[in-house]
Amino acid sequence: MPGGVSSPVRAFRAVGGTPFFVATASGARITDADGRSYLDYVLSWGPLLHGHNHPAVRSAIERAAAKGWTYGAPCEAEVELAELVTRLMPAVEMVRFVNSGTEATMAAIRVARAATRRDKILKFEGCYHGHADSFLVKAGSGVATLGLPDSPGVPAALAALTLTAPFNDLAAVEAALERHEGEVGAVIVEPVAANCGLIVPEATFLPGLRSLCDRHGALLVFDEVITGFRVARGGAQERFGVTPDLTTLGKVLGGGLPVGAYGGRRDLMKLVAPEGPVYQAGTLSGNPLAMAAGLATIQLAQAPGFYETLERRTGKLLTGLLEAAKRHGVPASGGCIGSLWGMAFTPGPVRRFSDMQKSDTKLFARFHRAALERGVFLAPSAFEAGFVSAAHTDQDIDETIRHLDSALGTARAG
Ligand code: PMP
Repeated sequence: MPGGVSSPVRAFRAVGGTPFFVATASGARITDADGRSYLDYVLSWGPLLHGHNHPAVRSAIERAAAKGWTYGAPCEAEVELAELVTRLMPAVEMVRFVNSGTEATMAAIRVARAATRRDKILKFEGCYHGHADSFLVKAGSGVATLGLPDSPGVPAALAALTLTAPFNDLAAVEAALERHEGEVGAVIVEPVAANCGLIVPEATFLPGLRSLCDRHGALLVFDEVITGFRVARGGAQERFGVTPDLTTLGKVLGGGLPVGAYGGRRDLMKLVAPEGPVYQAGTLSGNPLAMAAGLATIQLAQAPGFYETLERRTGKLLTGLLEAAKRHGVPASGGCIGSLWGMAFTPGPVRRFSDMQKSDTKLFARFHRAALERGVFLAPSAFEAGFVSAAHTDQDIDETIRHLDSALGTARAG
């Protein structure tokens, strides 16, 4: 296994030390093979809205498994989840399930290219849309963490079709769309940039993208793999009141089992096979266990006040951390929305990836190790967002702030 892992950031290369191996996980805590337990703010990188091993999600998976675990033919749970998704996200008029966020974005872009008959796409620096060739250009997440150049193995001719602009920079988007007038089929964006630390969009950014896309005949694709069912019931599109043409989903949608989806305007989704000519398929797509986990996860989140409580706890965590940083004289800035949060070791303001790159990654590495020693598991990279789950109690947040305050002191001392 390259790096001993199944996904690069898990190897801890950016923070040093040895990654722990997980034995079990429950609620807000994850326990390693040596019996050490950590308050978990990685949460499998986003799917676990209710924490680990939630009894309702587990029993939904068990009930589904009792009926067999893959059919290769349609089943009721797919229809139920599709109905739930289209109800919560009205802009998703039709939806196709896949197995990962990468598949979702890859397919959405194929639809956009087919619909517009334009090959170019525009993405934002530091945004991550999975590892398909077209997106490994100025990408965030592990690509940013490892400081990799755009990946070898991606044909230059394909990468040349991917234009980039800084996040929150409408003038740069406008300039690119004008320079490539009539050639850009889609603008794809993480409506909240959550793969280069966390950057909440400025008020004019998403509405501005909408009107620039309309003006230049490009489709607007919201990659809500992280934000979907997390920053609001109906995702970032509800929260910011901006309607994309296509949406990609993953993570929370599968409740921790492998699920992604893409969807959007009916006329666009009708291009997808078998209704239309755009090909996309999957042996395990719509898997009944995964559908059951997603349904249980999203249904649990419909409880009144669910998102409000999560957001309050997340805000409390970030406020506590920023206050601690101030006390220790550590330059820091941060952002949070819903149950997503990020603190960067730079005074800010952080409006785009190049601002985030100014953060002190050596300090972060020491902080990460000190946090782990105190039983708090943070993403092993300065360029990843943090997550909070409904299993994290106010007491957990208080305990985390205490530990991270002390970890900051240690990290600061060098
Ligand atoms: N889009 C976004 C916004 C993501 O954060 C990710 C994964 N972190 C992906 C796409 C890719 O999803 P997956 O890892 O499931 O392929």
